[in-house]
Amino acid sequence: MVRPKTEEEIELMRENAILVSKTLAEVGKVVAPGVTTLELNRVAETFIRDNGAVPSFLGYEGFPAALCISVNDVVVHGFPSDYVLKEGDIVSVDCGTLYKGYNGDSAYTFPVGEIDEETARLLKVTKESLYRGIAEAVDGNRTGDIGHAVQSYAESFGFSVVRELEGHGIGKAMHENPGVPNFGKRGRGAKLSDGMTICIEPMINAGTRGVYLDRNGWAVHTADRKNSAHYELTVVVRKGAPEVLSTFEFIENPNC
Ligand code: MG
Ligand code: MG
Repeated sequence: MVRPKTEEEIELMRENAILVSKTLAEVGKVVAPGVTTLELNRVAETFIRDNGAVPSFLGYEGFPAALCISVNDVVVHGFPSDYVLKEGDIVSVDCGTLYKGYNGDSAYTFPVGEIDEETARLLKVTKESLYRGIAEAVDGNRTGDIGHAVQSYAESFGFSVVRELEGHGIGKAMHENPGVPNFGKRGRGAKLSDGMTICIEPMINAGTRGVYLDRNGWAVHTADRKNSAHYELTVVVRKGAPEVLSTFEFIENPNC
């Protein structure tokens, strides 16, 4: 059984979610051709620490950085490096914070300069698949309802769903039960109940769904070397309609 969070816990989770959302927006401001992915990591780590929080990925099972930064055919868990971003790349940035004993976790795939039409479509569809999944995060549904919504939407555009990795519960630990797959059947999987906090995070490939693990033991690449996109938000399961704790508003509507 997964214990739903108390409203006090959810408030702390919300503070984390906003901090992660703002961190991703800070990173987004510096994404451009000519910038290294290590620089993106530096911006995020500074911002997180300046806000009194800790970058939770740093040291997690030995992960060496504050951000997972995954360029083009890297699906997730890429290391920041001296790689210089170039026009037409896409860069998936996954960020985690630990603040007041709770975790935040969200991700966004940024275009670098102008990207081609097919890649722009991959980003748009992946993000929309996340929102389709979120809509199913209501009391009484199951994780399979979320997975089915993500999968059926993404596949209807000819894209494919990475199956080796999934979303998750979140709270005092970054990864809690239940697992939240991005594929599945309606009415199957773990039951969702009011107050559960989960991360939904579709990883969608432009080509086939196969992936392989880098020799570094972390980075996950597409087997066909085509692009992959990744968006993640933290959500509270509620009765009737979900409550989304993190947001892309700071990235997409900075003047709001
Ligand atoms: Mg994440
Ligand atoms: Mg996550």
